[in-house]
Amino acid sequence: MYKMMTPGPTMVAPSVLQARSREFGNPDVDTDFCEEYHKVCTRLAELLDTENEVYILGGEGILALEAACASLTEPGDRVLVIDNGVFGKGFADFVKIYGGEPVLYTVDYHKPVETGKLRAFLEKDHGFKYATVVHCDTPSGVLNDISTICPLLKEYGILTVVDSVAAMFGEEVHVDDWKIDIICGGSQKALSAPPGLAFVSVSREAMESMENRRTPVASFYCSLLIFKDYYKEKWFPYTMPISDIYGLAEAVRLVGEDKDRIERHHRISAAVRRAVREAGLSLYLEHGDASTVTVVLVPEGIRDREIIRVMKEEHGILISGSFDVLAGKVIRLGHMGNNANTEDVAQMLTALTKTLHQLGFECLCDMGEVFLGLLFTPRPAI
Ligand SMILES: *Cc1c(COP(=O)(O)O)cnc(C)c1O
Repeated sequence: MYKMMTPGPTMVAPSVLQARSREFGNPDVDTDFCEEYHKVCTRLAELLDTENEVYILGGEGILALEAACASLTEPGDRVLVIDNGVFGKGFADFVKIYGGEPVLYTVDYHKPVETGKLRAFLEKDHGFKYATVVHCDTPSGVLNDISTICPLLKEYGILTVVDSVAAMFGEEVHVDDWKIDIICGGSQKALSAPPGLAFVSVSREAMESMENRRTPVASFYCSLLIFKDYYKEKWFPYTMPISDIYGLAEAVRLVGEDKDRIERHHRISAAVRRAVREAGLSLYLEHGDASTVTVVLVPEGIRDREIIRVMKEEHGILISGSFDVLAGKVIRLGHMGNNANTEDVAQMLTALTKTLHQLGFECLCDMGEVFLGLLFTPRPAI
């Protein structure tokens, strides 16, 4: 098997794989499972720094995004879609599907949203039921400052929906302090469990907004409202993917024990960016890279697919290209969750140096060596 250095899914700890192969009971009938599920939700809430309820949904990360929009949107609702990336813009589709009217706030994809400029926009137009914003928009790797964006939106009485699927656990998240009504997460990013589960935290205000709808939620599977009383009633709207949740529970436990996690993501990503630049390569972003992924422009005359193929076939390391408007333009180096470790990242960078050499681009240094030098000498890795 290759080393999976993609920006999700990531490599998974053996104990997570083992937890998924545990014997299991009937999650519909056996209320012990409800207790276990509730415990994982509670632990996730602690890690996300919130008093809000957390619900784990049986579906991949996208389900969390769609469920938030399905549950909040009523026909005719105006929704502010903050768009400085592919996932950011994608929220408009969910809003439309559920009859809402998305209003795009589109800014340059090469840098984070500027909260001051968003304020100027909101001063003129703030009649929105809720707003969507992506924390780390993975195709470009941009990190938006949700710590200022969400409180600003709340000043105008706008509910906040944050896609932090590719940032949480690799970046700081403080749901309550930052006034996030619904945060969306997934199992396969920095949490480092296999793909298959999504989760959300839902504020009381967001839940009340769902309860006070004039029209029913236009979905069953995507409704967050149906989860509201699951614990009281010991009832799930559908049979929970119990083995996946056992795996998730172990991944959550490991994340909780890893006290150096956020710092390590920052150290490693700063050193990756510096090594990439010293090699003579360019980053996609002007500034504002997330610590979970580095997005590098493909050197002229080389194809992203070739880089990915040689990396995989000759060096046994899987990296990723990008998609939508970034397709073909960049390669993406993942260093989130379990992948945020010095050894694997150094190997990836040395292999990339060799791969580019094979394809006709001479790096000015061995990126792996520069990376290690930055981490293991007193020189600050910034
Ligand atoms: C991965 C990811 C998701 C989940 O969707 P995928 O189907 O795994 O692409 C949602 N939002 C962001 C920002 C992601 O990186």
